[in-house]
Amino acid sequence: MTSDFDIAILGGGPVGQTMALLLAAHAAHPARIALLTATPAPAAAQGDPRVLAMNHGSRMLLEGLSAWPARTAKIDTIHVSQRGRLGRAVIRHDDFDVPALGYVTAYAALHDALSQRLAASGVTVLARGPAHIGQSDATGVEIIQGEERLRAALVVQCDGRARDDVKRDYGQHAVLATARASLPRPGWAWERFTQGGPLALLPHPEIAGGYSVVWCCAPAHAATLQAMDAHDFSVALNAAYGTRMGTLTASGERHVFPLALSMRREQVEGRVVTIGNAAQSLHPVAGQGLNLGLRDAAALSIALSPWQAAPAIPLDGILKRFAESRRTDRWTTAGLTDLMPRAFATGMAPIEHACGAALMALDLSATLRRPLARHLLFGRRA
Ligand SMILES: Cc1cc2nc3c(=O)[nH]c(=O)nc-3n(C[C@H](O)[C@H](O)[C@H](O)COP(=O)(O)OP(=O)(O)OC[C@H]3O[C@@H](n4cnc5c(N)ncnc54)[C@H](O)[C@@H]3O)c2cc1C
Repeated sequence: MTSDFDIAILGGGPVGQTMALLLAAHAAHPARIALLTATPAPAAAQGDPRVLAMNHGSRMLLEGLSAWPARTAKIDTIHVSQRGRLGRAVIRHDDFDVPALGYVTAYAALHDALSQRLAASGVTVLARGPAHIGQSDATGVEIIQGEERLRAALVVQCDGRARDDVKRDYGQHAVLATARASLPRPGWAWERFTQGGPLALLPHPEIAGGYSVVWCCAPAHAATLQAMDAHDFSVALNAAYGTRMGTLTASGERHVFPLALSMRREQVEGRVVTIGNAAQSLHPVAGQGLNLGLRDAAALSIALSPWQAAPAIPLDGILKRFAESRRTDRWTTAGLTDLMPRAFATGMAPIEHACGAALMALDLSATLRRPLARHLLFGRRA
């Protein structure tokens, strides 16, 4: 049976959108690439409260696609500390050969930048509601979207929901909020480990002197924090964070996200490849999920380009090599983000002192600091 599309991308989040643009860049007929979204842009991302830190590698990838968001805030220094214990580490961009350690953007702004490029890319965007994978065989996969059925030689699944081959419930929810500092430090981001979970303050891309707060804590505490008025929440935030930037004053709505690790063991099953959060949903500590998903997309586009040029080349070997090339990066990044929030939240003094000592050692020794920061900045390339 012939296919309606060469490649169908299921899910129009930032990873699916980036995947579509990368594939379109190598396609003789971009219209034979379909991006299936549940909702038309921009509604798909409006109201999403996430503010995302992207690393230098992600910036290079998105700039190459002319899809770098208009408003970003630069991070040139990251301060890591532990509440109630000694030890802290400061990571600076000049430890590495990069202009910044990261850039913060609103999820909706990134979605918007990618949507604009997609509109000019020639990719077929089908915004007909949730899509589902149907029958598949050695030559392609059927997809059902609303009343429509279509067929593609290859499906890239980017719907953001990882199958739980490996699962950990952290017993933590993330409270997302916005706060202004009376003594802001431009370019600084803060990660403070508390017994309830990590508390991050990222420079806000759209509010001068403002910070995006990601406060991970027990679900009941998160519910209490969400229900507080702005004054009481500000008091709680100042008590948890400390006085390094004067006084923090919170404003606006607060949102809560449950946190879990969900990993799909295999990224390739027949003619379906899974990438981004659909392959791995991580704890947000150290801001790695999107960066890792974009590396999935970049690697898959490089792997597929010979097949796009010559479709007679067998796909199986290409997909197998792609999955092998991603294994170390996926599992190392998942391992680091899995360890960090748990190591600092054991409630056991010897372990927390050891974590403090580790932070001090990282602070004092560039030799120790660089490999960890390099992985968080660039990931592991095969
Ligand atoms: C609180 C929090 C903070 C975070 N901070 C950071 C950070 O600082 N840095 C970082 O790198 N990452 C961060 N992340 C992770 C980041 O948000 C994700 O890794 C990233 O959004 C993954 O993109 P994605 O496109 O794979 O999935 P998603 O963003 O989940 O997008 C999936 C898309 O698929 C669509 N979809 C779902 N089902 C269907 C269907 N059946 N048919 C069609 N479409 C469908 C959805 O509507 C959505 O548009 C954070 C996450 C959280 C929760």
